[in-house]
Order: sequence, then structure tokens, then C-alpha cells
Amino acid sequence: MLFVEDLDVKGKTVFVRVDFNVPLNDKAEIRDDTRIKASLPTINYLLAKGARLVLASHLGRPKGKFDPKMSLKPVAARLGALIGREVIFAPDCVGDEVDKLKAGLEDGQVLLLENLRFHEGETKNDPRFSKRLAAGIDLFVNDAFGSSHRAHASVVGIIDFVPKCAAGYLMRLEVEYLRKAIHSPAKPYVAILGGAKSEDKIPVIENLLNKADTILIGGAMAYTFLKAQGHAVGRSLVEADKLEIALSILAKAKDKNVDFLLPIDHVLAVSIESRAVAKITDVYPFPEEMMGVDIGPRTIAQYAEIIAKAKTIVWNGPLGVFETPAFAQGTVKIAQAVAASGAISIIGGGDSIAAVAKAGVSDKITHISTGGGASLEYLAFETLPGIEALEKR
Ligand code: AMP
Repeated sequence: MLFVEDLDVKGKTVFVRVDFNVPLNDKAEIRDDTRIKASLPTINYLLAKGARLVLASHLGRPKGKFDPKMSLKPVAARLGALIGREVIFAPDCVGDEVDKLKAGLEDGQVLLLENLRFHEGETKNDPRFSKRLAAGIDLFVNDAFGSSHRAHASVVGIIDFVPKCAAGYLMRLEVEYLRKAIHSPAKPYVAILGGAKSEDKIPVIENLLNKADTILIGGAMAYTFLKAQGHAVGRSLVEADKLEIALSILAKAKDKNVDFLLPIDHVLAVSIESRAVAKITDVYPFPEEMMGVDIGPRTIAQYAEIIAKAKTIVWNGPLGVFETPAFAQGTVKIAQAVAASGAISIIGGGDSIAAVAKAGVSDKITHISTGGGASLEYLAFETLPGIEALEKR
């Protein structure tokens, strides 16, 4: 796989797939520009070398139709301010007008295309759409790590229609950290997994069972495992169709000598509303009308002790309903424990990133991944469709 520094970019029209999928408020103002800033090393490098930049990204899920609420226009202004030069904004990402704008670029000029997902060809990886994207392009650079777990046109399909392609700085950085965690983790290696949907986390757990020394489970996912073990967990969120796989994971963990820990006490509430009456318990059955909304203080202490001894930590997903302040203790305390551990720590996923920010410890995390889904998928499969496509060339 080539790296952006391997390309001769002077005077070339370079299509850079970036991840500008930033959160907007209802006035279409950018709430957080972390992802734009994360793309700057690649953008600034290419501009310094005299490339003609065509930047492309998706934003939100417009499902193949134009939606002004998901326009990338506000991003053009913010990017312009960050790089100190004009960013020309294209009203679409393909079409005659866009082709003219591409052809009119001079060395060091930047064109930002409108949201790729305004066309359904993007998510369908439609070759006709990929070809339209590649029109007038000399080189393709993928710097959108956070989108590279999707086999979409601007990530995978376009590669068939460009003469040369390479990975950008952000892509390289993300992959370097994850690769280290996968292939040569300093031990003990502790994985922390929370959140609500175990769907994407099950393959990750399966892979981690071959690598990690300890897996700490929290969040709603814990209740699927506890229910599978036969505990009555009241109205806790349980994925009924995952009970069997949960049991097989527990058995495999035992086989492989991996410490697979489930919460030993719980914060219970009648709902996830902040005013819902909460209590702490370490006994089953839970009262029928109550659900587990956070890990309890004994679990926090137990997990924190393990985290303190870790040398590598991978974390994805909050340990409770952390959006509700009354149920955020577990997630915040674990974030503080990770920060204090001195271990190499890798955190992915919007919720976990928000959690470390809430705990005020973001600067103590070794690597905060810009791609939650992508980092999980990389941990599970050790590659991503977008990376495979770059390597194929
Ligand atoms: P995910 O997208 O799978 O990482 O899930 C994140 C969501 O899981 C957050 O919105 C949390 O509020 C939610 N969550 C975490 N713990 C629980 C729980 N015990 N019960 C219900 N939802 C939870």
C-alpha cells in the first residue's frame, strides 16, 4: 500500500476521501470539528506540495437524496478558516458543473464536494457513480479511516478508476495504533466493551479472546450475558437472540484462560429518565419493573484495579446510560482509571470519546480513534474494506 508521501502530487488533481462527518446543530453549525482537524496533516501536506485538491466526504445519512440539513457547506467555511485559504464549495459531488470546477483548479487550490450520500450510488458502491467521482482525477488518497469499514464508492469503487492511490496521514496513524494493539500489545492487555448493541461487538470479542488477558464488560451488553447465565435481570435491555452466542463466548473465554468479567453489582432504575428512582444491588432477581442502567461501585472498584495494572487498554462503548448524569458514574470513573493507568490506551466510538471528554481526561488517552465502527471492525478483522482496496493496487 502506498502512502501519500510516495506520490508525486505537484500539479496533480488529487481526490482525497476525508471523514468530515461532523455533528451539526439545528442551525447547521458545527458542534465539534475534531474530524476536520484530524484531516489537516494530509491536506496541508498536499497543499504544500502544490497539489490541486478535491475533497469528498459524507455527512449523516441522507439516504440518496439532497437534504439541506446535511450539506457540507458549513464545513467548507470552517476548513477555510483552519487552513487559511479559500475552499471552493461544489453544489454536488458529481456532474458537469463539478467536472468544470475540478478542471479549473490551480496548484494549491481546494475544492470541497457536496455530501457524497446525496447520491445512492455512494453507499451502493455503484461503479457508474465511482467512475463519475473519478472524472478528471489523477490520484486518489484515502484519509477517511472512520469510513473505511464501508465498501462505498468513494472508499472502494473509485480505486478501479484512478491511476494511482495511497493512504493519508490519519489513516496511517489510526492503523499504526490499532496494529500495535493487535500484534504486539504490551501485557497485561485489557479490553473494555460496553454500549447497547452487541451485534458489532461480538466479532470483536471473538478476536480479543485470542489476544487480550482480560475483557471487562459493561453497558446493556452485560445483561445479555447475565441473562444467558440464568440471572433474572428485570427489564434490563437483553438481546434475546444473542443468548446462545453469549454462552459460547463465556465457554471460549474459559477455554482460552481469558478473564471475562461481568458486573458484580448494578445501578437499577425504572427507566433511563434522570428522575427515575435508582438503587444499587448485587443480588438477583432484579425487581421486575427495574433495569440495570450502570455498573455499581464494587464493579467500578474491581475493574479499576485491573485497569491500574494494564499496559494496553482498548475501550469501546459506555458502561452505563452515561447521557443521564445520574447513571454516568461507572463510565466516568472507568475513564479516569484508564487515564491514570499509564497504559497505552486506545478509545473508539463517539460515546466513549464523549465519556472521556466528560471525565476531563481526553488528553491522557494515547489514541482517540476518529472512527468508532471502523476501529471496532479493525480490531475484529485486522483490516477494513477501504484498506484492502488500497492494498489490492
Ligand atoms: P453502542 O452504540 O452500542 O455503543 O451503545 C451506546 C449506548 O448504550 C449509549 O447511548 C448508552 O446510553 C447505552 N447504554 C449503555 N448502558 C446501557 C444500559 N445498561 N441500558 C441501556 N442502555 C445502555
